[in-house]
Amino acid sequence: MMDVNTGKMQNAARILQLLRTEDSLTKQDVSRSLHLSMPTTLQNINELMEAGILEECGTSESTGGRKAKKIRLRPDAGLGVGIDVALHHIELAVTDLRGGVLAQQRIPLEFHDTPAWYQALSEALEHFLQANQIDTQTVLSAGVSFPGIIDGESEVLLRSHIFGLEHIRLDRFHRSIPFPVVVANDANCAGFSELCAERPTYVYVSLNESVGGAFLLEGRLYLGGTWQAGEIGHMLLIPGGERCYCGKHGCADAYLSPKVLRKQGETLASFFRRVEKQEKTTCETWDTYLEHLAILLTNLRMMLNTDLVIGGEVGTYIAPYQRRTRRSHRIGLVASPKDGPQRSRNHRRPRR
Ligand SMILES: [Zn+2]
Repeated sequence: MMDVNTGKMQNAARILQLLRTEDSLTKQDVSRSLHLSMPTTLQNINELMEAGILEECGTSESTGGRKAKKIRLRPDAGLGVGIDVALHHIELAVTDLRGGVLAQQRIPLEFHDTPAWYQALSEALEHFLQANQIDTQTVLSAGVSFPGIIDGESEVLLRSHIFGLEHIRLDRFHRSIPFPVVVANDANCAGFSELCAERPTYVYVSLNESVGGAFLLEGRLYLGGTWQAGEIGHMLLIPGGERCYCGKHGCADAYLSPKVLRKQGETLASFFRRVEKQEKTTCETWDTYLEHLAILLTNLRMMLNTDLVIGGEVGTYIAPYQRRTRRSHRIGLVASPKDGPQRSRNHRRPRR
């Protein structure tokens, strides 16, 4: 995994992400899809080839002129480790460079910014890799997805409302993980992983425990002036409404977190089973949720006039209900099939 936080590494990361969703591409395809100049494209591709991550693989169909060479990810280039940090658990995954999941495990571990937590993370990762017989020599890097605003230049967690943290240096992660580590905002990680050649610009809406989002503009993660772009969960949805964990009232998070759907101790799967059985109060709860979601999506659509990709926990269930939301609000939605480090390739075309 390469750094999605900083501009200087974004181009290489974007090229890799693009090639994860395509079998092979010409250098011209890469340049066109990512709006990169040919010199920048060639420089990045050459560096990735020298690092043994990309390789040439035949030529494109001839259109009359010289056939262009195609490139792809080397299947044996190495592995990546994904670590998703949530309030009450961590989720570990090992993937190949095409995003194929080789192993995955969710481990209950309540987050505390203490040496004991980082030690527990380190031990859990070691056990996980051993149990799945992963040769650590083949791991190229690790990516940590963290629910907070992260300054990728100075490697500082600026703020995490959900954990009540401010100004935490990220070297704590570097010391507890035995690979090169990149820590990035959870919604940005998930949003970036939806990038594909046919859809370089979109808003990703993460309907997770903490609602968030990411804005991909021509294949580039737009991070904003102070790294806070895409804080969709704290857009005002209902003036004077429910209190959000950030302290304000009426934020989207207070209406669109899966918390508002689940009963105490219930899973989201169980909630949707009750929706399918058409239980009256459950259907009313779900209808209210969809109405709130539609307001948020309409606002995003009006502002940015682009496709919206819905992910996160609720996003995995939303596909059968898209038509209703889309019809009444004329929204182009793409439901993401998965979320978190287990996410794999998503080829779905946006529907309008
Ligand atoms: Zn809020």
